[in-house]
Amino acid sequence: MMGTSLYSPGDSVRRPLAILSALAEEQAGLVEQLQGAQCVSHAGREFWQGQLSGLPVVLALSRIGKVAAATTSVALIERFAAGAIVFTGVAGGVGPRVQVGDVVVGTGYVQHDMDASPLFPRYQIPLTGQTAFAADAALARSLVFACVVGLQGLQHAGRAPLVHQGLIASGDRFVNGLAETRSIVDALRHHGHEPLAVEMEGAAVAQVCHDYGLPFAAVRTISDRADDSAHVDFPAFVRDVASVYAQRIIRELVRALAG
Ligand code: SAH
Repeated sequence: MMGTSLYSPGDSVRRPLAILSALAEEQAGLVEQLQGAQCVSHAGREFWQGQLSGLPVVLALSRIGKVAAATTSVALIERFAAGAIVFTGVAGGVGPRVQVGDVVVGTGYVQHDMDASPLFPRYQIPLTGQTAFAADAALARSLVFACVVGLQGLQHAGRAPLVHQGLIASGDRFVNGLAETRSIVDALRHHGHEPLAVEMEGAAVAQVCHDYGLPFAAVRTISDRADDSAHVDFPAFVRDVASVYAQRIIRELVRALAG
């Protein structure tokens, strides 16, 4: 990554920072800490407005899958005037060194199930000319910083979590088979993409933010290796590990952004 400056919410004229959580367990702790909390129902979803560490925020659940996450993102922008979107969730680790309990901060997002070939090159989002959407560099750096500080002292399965940075691949599929993972990863590699993690929403939110010119960054806690045991203990991991990580990371992020 070039440059060293961190994200400043002043960049977005103090519009609220949207914090999108993939799972209810991750969001619960944030809602508890929300100052001046106000819940608004819109588009069949609940949006929580308020402040965290004095920073104006709006919290929402992305819901699962690309379309659901895109709908939530558009609502955050159009109805709640979000100035930037930060995403927390879990994902399957597919990079060789990416282990359960690590986190991945996405620097780019590709849709592994997008294929309009031969009309458009494989993975290209039609009419955009792009195959991957980049995270906002300053916001992603702030998120890396928040991960390093927020996860300090924590261990999972006897080792400290590593903070990886790289490409995240999204698609409307829970990837839980070795053969399935190989075919997704090999095809991406064949086209020059080296994914660290797979999940079901990030690239959709990145595309919406690209369309609106809004800063976006996401962090995923690795819940599984996208292999045949990916579903095992998923709820327990989300409750005991991922929700704790997400809360700590967001606490550090809002502290840093609030100044
Ligand atoms: N059992 C869960 C369903 C979670 S779906 C429930 O009842 O709510 C999986 C979620 O975790 C999605 O938000 C997705 O982004 C992420 N995820 C984690 N591991 C994944 C994997 N191996 N493949 C795809 N998505 C994964």
